[in-house]
Amino acid sequence: MNTTINNTHTSLKAELRIINKAAWVILAVALLLWFGLGLPAMIHTLPPHEQAGTEGVLLSVIGVFMGIIISVWILLTFYVNADAGRRHMSRLMWTLLVIFVPYAIGFIVYYVVRRPIPQLCPNCGGVIQADFLFCPACRHELKTRCPECQRHVETGWVNCAFCGRKLA
Ligand SMILES: [Zn+2]
Ligand SMILES: [Zn+2]
Repeated sequence: MNTTINNTHTSLKAELRIINKAAWVILAVALLLWFGLGLPAMIHTLPPHEQAGTEGVLLSVIGVFMGIIISVWILLTFYVNADAGRRHMSRLMWTLLVIFVPYAIGFIVYYVVRRPIPQLCPNCGGVIQADFLFCPACRHELKTRCPECQRHVETGWVNCAFCGRKLA
């Protein structure tokens, strides 16, 4: 039977899709407030002759940099909130860690210790592991067999690793 198991390694595009839609709204509002009010107000505290001078330019550059940090911080927070859920980890604890532990250390710790995404049987939806050949719940065959030697082969193999038969 030809059954492909969803890979644990997903693309960046697929990863971004798990981020809650609300995150993009909050991000837009935060950037609007920062570039529309916060940063202009900071530049306004400079003496008038400096606002268009070196200090004004420097403050603008720092402002753009801050905007990038704010964006990444908001998106990482929402990403961890969603990602922890599908890995059966505490969403609340990891979200708070990413928000409050500075210099992205919370996120780095999360990234290192996060559990693999559990894979599901395409037949019954039961939890399976990557090296399972059959679903322990419904006995569904999870891997393809070589037509020559009948041993289980991995998806993506061009030739059978056991008897050398061409598979693709
Ligand atoms: Zn099953
Ligand atoms: Zn074979």
